[in-house]
Amino acid sequence: MRPMSRRTFLKAGALAGAACAAPVAFDFASFVKGAAEAPVTKVPSTCNGCSTNCALWAYVKNGRLWKIEGVPLAMKNEGKLCARAHGVAADVYNPDRVTQPMKRTGDGQFAPITWDEAFKEIGDRLTKIIDKDGADKVVWLGHGGKETYAQMLLDEIGSANYVTHYSTCFTSKTNAWDKMVGAQLTSDINRAKYMLFCGRNYGGGIMPGAMRKIMRAKDRGAKIVVVDPRLCELAKVADEWLPIRPGTDLAFFLGIAHTLISEKLYDEKFVKDYVFGFEEFWSANRSFTAEKAAELCDIPAAKIRAIARELAKNAPAAFLEPGYHGLHNHYAASTQIAQANVIVNALLGNFYKHGGLMPAASPKFGQLRLPKRLQPEKGPRADGAGVANEYPTVELSRGIAQDMPGLIARGKLKALFVYHNNPLRTAPDPEYQKRIAKADLVVAIPVDWNETAVHTAHYILPEHYYLERMDAPKSTGGNIAHDYPQAVMRFPALKPLHNTKHLLDILKGLSKAMKIDDLYPFTVEEEAAAMLGGLGTTVAGMKESGCYEVPEAVKAEFPMKDGQPALTTTTGRVEFSVGAFKLHGRMGVPVWIPPLVSPKGEAEFRLIHGKQPWHSHSVTSNSPYLMAITRSYNGARLWMNRGRADKLGIGDGDTVTLETTIAYKGESRPVRKTVAVKVTEMLHPDCVWLPNGYGNFSPKQKVGYQQGVNYNDFAPARVEALSGSCMVQEVIVTVRKGG
Ligand code: SF4
Repeated sequence: MRPMSRRTFLKAGALAGAACAAPVAFDFASFVKGAAEAPVTKVPSTCNGCSTNCALWAYVKNGRLWKIEGVPLAMKNEGKLCARAHGVAADVYNPDRVTQPMKRTGDGQFAPITWDEAFKEIGDRLTKIIDKDGADKVVWLGHGGKETYAQMLLDEIGSANYVTHYSTCFTSKTNAWDKMVGAQLTSDINRAKYMLFCGRNYGGGIMPGAMRKIMRAKDRGAKIVVVDPRLCELAKVADEWLPIRPGTDLAFFLGIAHTLISEKLYDEKFVKDYVFGFEEFWSANRSFTAEKAAELCDIPAAKIRAIARELAKNAPAAFLEPGYHGLHNHYAASTQIAQANVIVNALLGNFYKHGGLMPAASPKFGQLRLPKRLQPEKGPRADGAGVANEYPTVELSRGIAQDMPGLIARGKLKALFVYHNNPLRTAPDPEYQKRIAKADLVVAIPVDWNETAVHTAHYILPEHYYLERMDAPKSTGGNIAHDYPQAVMRFPALKPLHNTKHLLDILKGLSKAMKIDDLYPFTVEEEAAAMLGGLGTTVAGMKESGCYEVPEAVKAEFPMKDGQPALTTTTGRVEFSVGAFKLHGRMGVPVWIPPLVSPKGEAEFRLIHGKQPWHSHSVTSNSPYLMAITRSYNGARLWMNRGRADKLGIGDGDTVTLETTIAYKGESRPVRKTVAVKVTEMLHPDCVWLPNGYGNFSPKQKVGYQQGVNYNDFAPARVEALSGSCMVQEVIVTVRKGG
């Protein structure tokens, strides 16, 4: 992967010469020939550049990573990999990785510690905290992928506090779909005739397989409409781009629903047979016409009606794509936006229909049989998810990630583990997040010196890089439909370069130090064998193929039992009205809710953000290759509408100052950052847009340090009451020319 530099080559030559003792002439031609002809091994893995889990082959030559390639069968990437994948793979050699366990000795200062010492010290401190304060003061803040090992430790000590990063990403969506449908349905791009994407950009928050499916759909004549304040990458290939006023997607969705119902274009039979709460929704929204929606969202009423009619004409092979981060962590009304999305799709009658929305293609993995253990009862969750009088409707499986400092201040959190997560950079308000350091014990389990590790951890326990480890099989299902479930798996392609460990071995060491007897009596390989046994393949089979496709097709059938709809909702039907929301004093159905804040005056803008195809939040911010792409495209700039920029005398390439005040929980703090501007017609005038992946503030990450700014710098760590998300686009900034 990395060509041998002249310096490395000379060093290798010098070492070879020293080893030979006798003065032997070094033959460069033979050396190059030998290196070129060295055998190549090919090992399957899954990319760690984002949550998509694209399956890849890692090619290894002379013990070094040579290249990576996508696995053609894998549904999420169809043989392709995005730029991030290559940058993240090359980062296995990044000099800013944490190379051994470390213990804090001062502000930003760490000293090496052995694994055994680290386990003993952490184990002792954790045991004391549990004895004195209770296990419910121990929190695991992970990424949320598949951290069953962490869950086992929490079960053993009696903590309910498994928290994922999802509330900083998309929980409004999963919460609404879980409560209204009991499933996260996925869009059948392969067969759709009409696709409406709102706040979803498969070309920026890239998913290679989704983009390939979209392009094939376009070739066969499917219509693609993208609604986004910015001409995002997906909008560039769409038939239509509608630059909506940011923060008003709910109005647009309600306008479409109104047209479908008032013009009797909706699937009445589907609604009669499978929906609960239609009348309640309609009586609450009968007056919310397309015209009313148009006044708010800046898309003409005639266009809203035309889209509704086109959706209906092509239904059920048509969908409003359910979305992901794009709308579901952004606004006070994000939960209602997701509710309205469910309702528009249900009105089209596209649930469990080819070309519409299908269940995720998820394999039914087998399970490792482990001896039953006597475990203590758990107390309430520290973050308040699912707790009466706190956040009763927030999903227990995901929790609330952004307010760890609040839990510490209220005495609800004493010990925090942070795994494959970096809240100081990926959650709102880094100055607030730095207070994580005030916990009695903070243990970071990263691969690199990220901001959370550097600024808050008492101990850093470095994990093997993804290319150095075997991980249990994963499903590729979710987001996009596929006819057959698939499993993918990581195998170690490289020997660990540093003194790091697999997460399972870290937790084995820690639990042993806490005198917990044999909590993990298995290896990853044994776990993988048990999981795959249920599918009809083996670990060896996975190593051979890189991706296994289950032969049993996903069914296009609405779940039924004894002749009745049998979704896992209370009524078995699609619930337009969520009873749990009503129980807690909210409306069960979505109605228009205006944004919390709106720009006023010439210099104020809503701050919105999105992904570029070569960066993923903070994980790529220190990649020399990906930051080189940023430099060559001048990619860290703030986008600003040309008309608005002209009025403020701001030109393309100028430096501007962004200012806001973070006022939250009785505190008020000004924030001021400077950034270069890209002036463009391709953005709604009400907002400015920041690419994410920048604003690294870990001095130990030399490539990304202080490059660009980040949207989280300007947002308070708020919690939206129904789903726990951060509302990070409820932020107004003032923009002025100059630094
Ligand atoms: S989309 Fe790109 S970064 Fe994400 S898993 Fe796939 S290849 Fe990796």
